[in-house]
Amino acid sequence: MSDENQHFEISKQKDYLYVIKENISLVHPVYTNDPLNMYLLLGSHTALLLDTGCGLAPLKRIVDDLIGERKLLVFNTHYHWDHPLGNVEFGVVYIHENEVDLISKPYDVSYFKDSPNEIVKIYAKQNYLIPPAKTIKSLKDGDVFDLGEIEVKVIHCPGHSPGSICLLTSRGELFTSDVAYYGDQFLPRKEDFPEVLKTLLNLIELCERQKNLELYPSHRKYPCDKTLLTDLYNGIKNIEDLWDTKKPFDFFEAWQIDDDKFRYYISR
Ligand SMILES: [Zn+2]
Repeated sequence: MSDENQHFEISKQKDYLYVIKENISLVHPVYTNDPLNMYLLLGSHTALLLDTGCGLAPLKRIVDDLIGERKLLVFNTHYHWDHPLGNVEFGVVYIHENEVDLISKPYDVSYFKDSPNEIVKIYAKQNYLIPPAKTIKSLKDGDVFDLGEIEVKVIHCPGHSPGSICLLTSRGELFTSDVAYYGDQFLPRKEDFPEVLKTLLNLIELCERQKNLELYPSHRKYPCDKTLLTDLYNGIKNIEDLWDTKKPFDFFEAWQIDDDKFRYYISR
């Protein structure tokens, strides 16, 4: 079902799960975590779209075609630019309560002004201020949504951002957002690593209680298993030992550190 002429690549993962992929390196080559994976869950009466991407091409009509008569819920996993910029097409968007304010106003993407890529003209036409959804509603840890034959539970996972969420379904999928994926990692300041590690440990424990969970990250490879979480946990724990190898990476105002599995950008 993929079409190379289209901006998005759409694939059907299961009867009730579609993946809508978007290449974020189109915006700026410094972003290498292609693709961004947006997920569309189809319950019997309600569909849930997880993230709206970069706002570079119409998404709603694609979603409308896939969901048929179902009601649609739209969530953002967190506020970072590659996840909410398509929100304006949708009337109501949910995000964790810690990040409601961050996506309620026009989103400033002026850091892409110097991008060598043509496609940023789409942002330039909007003066690098991307309009928000009309209504933003808040999510909190433990919220449950019934889609009809699939239930979805919100897990607050602070660390990558203050309001990052993961979603656990009653069918055994865990959508890990940017909390865990195989690719370049964007981490907060080193002082905040304990929160990142605590979140990862909570998810590792969840995977131990509930065997065979399938992990669906918001970037690159899917599905993954618990190994992704333990790889990342061990990697971040080990950063202290690699601290002397850090190099400045100015575009992200970060320190860059590499190990054999991940590249880390750590806020300065
Ligand atoms: Zn992301």
